[in-house]
Amino acid sequence: MNPEGRARAEAWLEYFNDLGISDFCLDCAASTVEAASAPAETIPSAPEPLPRPIRMAPSVVNPSPTHVVSVLPVIKSASLFAANERVEGDTLERIREDIGENCRRCKLCEQRNKIVFGAGHSKAELVFVGEGPGHDEDMQGLPFVGRAGKLLTQMIEAMGLRRDDVYIANVVKCRPPQNRAPEPDEIETCSPFLHRQLAVIRPKAVVCLGAIAFQSLTGTKPSMSRIRGQWLEFRGIPLLATYHPAYLLRNPNAKGDVWEDLKKVMAHLGLKLPAKR
Ligand code: URA
Repeated sequence: MNPEGRARAEAWLEYFNDLGISDFCLDCAASTVEAASAPAETIPSAPEPLPRPIRMAPSVVNPSPTHVVSVLPVIKSASLFAANERVEGDTLERIREDIGENCRRCKLCEQRNKIVFGAGHSKAELVFVGEGPGHDEDMQGLPFVGRAGKLLTQMIEAMGLRRDDVYIANVVKCRPPQNRAPEPDEIETCSPFLHRQLAVIRPKAVVCLGAIAFQSLTGTKPSMSRIRGQWLEFRGIPLLATYHPAYLLRNPNAKGDVWEDLKKVMAHLGLKLPAKR
């Protein structure tokens, strides 16, 4: 590594050490330096901002954790527990059964290998919602087990939790071909199952990983950079969006932003911030 690259790497490591999240950010410095020395066309760029940002009262943006629940901007839709999808006496097992072993409700069934229902604690206080399974998830039938999943695990562990403590689900349960974004008809078909999962688990917080999860749950299309780290109320549940771990793999310098978002979630859940190392 050249001296300039080394200095930048050391600066990143110091920064993440200061934040107390060096494990979560262990590969930041290396990938940042790699990106900086890569030819211009190989440096990943941020995704295009999404149109139509939603408007929120400035006074309720980024509320402090102590009053977070009482002043959240509310997404206009039925309470999760009064919504159409609600099934009396519902359970995660029943939702899985209702999806079936060979769901053919949408075109994603054509190329999928395994349905990825979701995994984790059935009474988790925290639910992470991703976009849809990728290759590794499709092979194993489990959410977030590939490279992005390993980073999500580090994020969860940086919060002082284990994967088993939380619940991880996706908007669509089958892998979109070539990892494309799920299409509106696929999201519409599959979302009721996610809504039922959330209604059964009744978490204290939902973290949307990326714009697709946020847009699918809230029906709004703001840009991630505008919305991330802000609490909203979705059907009675505090909800916050942050960058998708796959975005962090391409843009490791956004990990600091994500850590700020996760600290808000920790404060909301009453979790202790890790001591600085
Ligand atoms: N990306 C997602 O959005 N979900 C997964 O399960 C894996 C990768």
